[in-house]
Amino acid sequence: MFIETSIKEQVERQRHDRMRVLVVGAGVAGLTLAQLLRRSGLSPVLVERASASTEPGYMLALMPLAEQALRELGVWDDYVSRSVPFHRYRPHGHRGQLLREYEIDTLLGAEGEYRGIMRGSLMQVLSGPGAPISHGATLKAIRQAADAVEATLGSEAGDVEAVFDTVIFADGLHSDGRARLLDPRQVTTYDTNWAGWVAWIDTDPDHADRGDEIWGAGFFVGIYPVNGQAGVFVGGSRADMRAGPAAFIKHIRSRLRVPDPWFERALAQIETGEEHYFWKLLDCRAEHWTVGRAALLGDAAAGFLPTAGIGAGMAMESATVLAHCLRDVSRDGVADALRAYERAQRPRVEAAQDSSRQLAKLMFRRSRILAVFRDLAVRLLPLETALRPIRKLLDSSPLPKTTVATRS
Ligand SMILES: Cc1cc2nc3c(=O)[nH]c(=O)nc-3n(C[C@H](O)[C@H](O)[C@H](O)COP(=O)(O)OP(=O)(O)OC[C@H]3O[C@@H](n4cnc5c(N)ncnc54)[C@H](O)[C@@H]3O)c2cc1C
Repeated sequence: MFIETSIKEQVERQRHDRMRVLVVGAGVAGLTLAQLLRRSGLSPVLVERASASTEPGYMLALMPLAEQALRELGVWDDYVSRSVPFHRYRPHGHRGQLLREYEIDTLLGAEGEYRGIMRGSLMQVLSGPGAPISHGATLKAIRQAADAVEATLGSEAGDVEAVFDTVIFADGLHSDGRARLLDPRQVTTYDTNWAGWVAWIDTDPDHADRGDEIWGAGFFVGIYPVNGQAGVFVGGSRADMRAGPAAFIKHIRSRLRVPDPWFERALAQIETGEEHYFWKLLDCRAEHWTVGRAALLGDAAAGFLPTAGIGAGMAMESATVLAHCLRDVSRDGVADALRAYERAQRPRVEAAQDSSRQLAKLMFRRSRILAVFRDLAVRLLPLETALRPIRKLLDSSPLPKTTVATRS
């Protein structure tokens, strides 16, 4: 549960902390970090630009990478009750025909659980033990000195000046913090020129544990399980989507040859054009994650396309690694601790981001000839092979195995 707290009050509470931490952005990464630091006895100041919301957001398939944070926070059981196992994965060809069915969680089984959850529910799980936060608040200015960071924080209630030992920017893909720390030439963006609408449909026992995807020529449709509902993602090139959902869905229907009531339900939902989330499918990569006493975390450091379904899991793992690096550090050791976090995590995150980009290159194509070959490859290629890069990451976690062993 989020506990709305003024910035002033948050700053006051951390006055005697051995290390004063500011976390900017309470998304997946920032909230995970703040909660882990609270478990280790600190009172980080957490500011979030958006106002408090109970919106479900979009669907997340969470890799086992998220498991350690959830277990360390003692919220694993709550997570399990608000999520569903992502058991079956069913890729369909460019005309809608089913190509294969995989037991995906069995393939990842040794590494932990693969589950589907609404982003809003994940926020509830993470904030479950109580999360003091200032919504509608942000960082307005920072001045770094060798021994501290002076910050101006702002909200409707006015500005607050405070001094911190470290500032962590977890403010997402379009991070302001990144722009404050780095030269624009130190940030690269990968734009697929595609985008997607996100919506929800009710599910039923037949579909409760399965994800279905159509990799079309010039379009993509995905349906993913969460608790009681299914998340729908319909993507295409931004130029083709400009005419709006109804025209784009008509175009998709004209390409499908295999009628499927489940996909039809998803398409009809997007067709209504009700306030669906609209995502531009682009990502970014920062050349450096740490500058002095400030660091980037999650999508702010390396943003993710949704293609590999790994960004949120990676963001939670990075938050856990950072929390471990900061755990026993004195105020003087902050900059070294941040560098240790970057050394441990950047290569892993960039490897995952590379996988995500490669998948995007395969998925977001218009060519029908390529789509035919792609269908064939999906039929022939064992999923074990496709999942190899992910398994490699799961096998080489930088986190000590001892805490993972707390599995119930
Ligand atoms: C449609 C879609 C589907 C996805 N599916 C998956 C999936 O299945 N599996 C998966 O693992 N990943 C998935 N991802 C990726 C995943 O959501 C992100 O990688 C993950 O949320 C990154 O976490 P984050 O905390 O860095 O960023 P976010 O979760 O975006 O959080 C950033 C937060 O910072 C706040 N903020 C922004 N600017 C400021 C500011 N100036 N001051 C204060 N606060 C600020 C924002 O309001 C937000 O709350 C998907 C993404 C999308 C868009």
